[in-house]
Amino acid sequence: MAKKSFGQHFLLDLNITRKIVRLGGPFDGDVVIEVGPGPGGLTRALLETEARKVIAVEMDSRFIDLLGELNGVYGDRFEVIEGDATKIDEARSLADRNLTEAAHIVSNLPYNVGTPLLIKWLTGPWLPLSMTLMFQLEVALRVVAPVGDNDYGRLSVISQVLCDCQKIMDLPARAFTPPPKVDSAVVHLKPKAERPEPRVIRNLEKVTAAAFGQRRKMLRASLKSLGGEALLEKAGITPSERAEQVSPQDFLRLAHLI
Ligand code: SAM
Repeated sequence: MAKKSFGQHFLLDLNITRKIVRLGGPFDGDVVIEVGPGPGGLTRALLETEARKVIAVEMDSRFIDLLGELNGVYGDRFEVIEGDATKIDEARSLADRNLTEAAHIVSNLPYNVGTPLLIKWLTGPWLPLSMTLMFQLEVALRVVAPVGDNDYGRLSVISQVLCDCQKIMDLPARAFTPPPKVDSAVVHLKPKAERPEPRVIRNLEKVTAAAFGQRRKMLRASLKSLGGEALLEKAGITPSERAEQVSPQDFLRLAHLI
């Protein structure tokens, strides 16, 4: 039985899970961490690839034994960790297994923890090689929204400053068992080669929270406590603009200047 509080909507059609994995890959020779494998539909597709190892993190103990059956087929290329992905230290989990720090994340995310997990992986300290993530459509659209779009917001800025982001697949609610109330989409995020230092990433979180927290206000007002008009002028941004008119690159410039 699906547990509502764990956001359980399963993908049981191997054609769909294979397609997600094909579009999210290649994973050849790399480690993949899958969050929330449930009964293992996506896990099976991942194990069919040339990934070196698949580590699944699942919070619902009912799936742990079931997933253990995959060891019969794939041996120690597969391992399941029982735990809460929001609390796991990925770098430590990989080091404990004598694996390199580098790993991809693939997940049909439980909707209630989707955004916090994305922010955790985006802002570090541990950085995935890539992320292939199923979100409810509304969240997927926010991740990839261009400046000026209705969906453009804090998540768009942070995602697009730190990663190349693409919506790679749409999935109707009926593709899941049981079907959720909303449609879904898969987003692929690849961290950019040039990454701002941690201080700048923290400032980016701060400045976007202030700007989009009061998105109807002009920036000179919403960013007052961070430097207001003087800061905006230094960054070459018109103080009467509103958050949704400011590009990810301009937000990054602000984050450098704070
Ligand atoms: N990947 C499976 C699929 O596509 O069929 C299941 C996806 S279902 C939307 C989400 C899964 O994440 C469930 O199995 C649920 O128990 C698990 N889950 C929920 N919250 C979690 C968390 N914080 N950490 C790890 N797993 C979690």
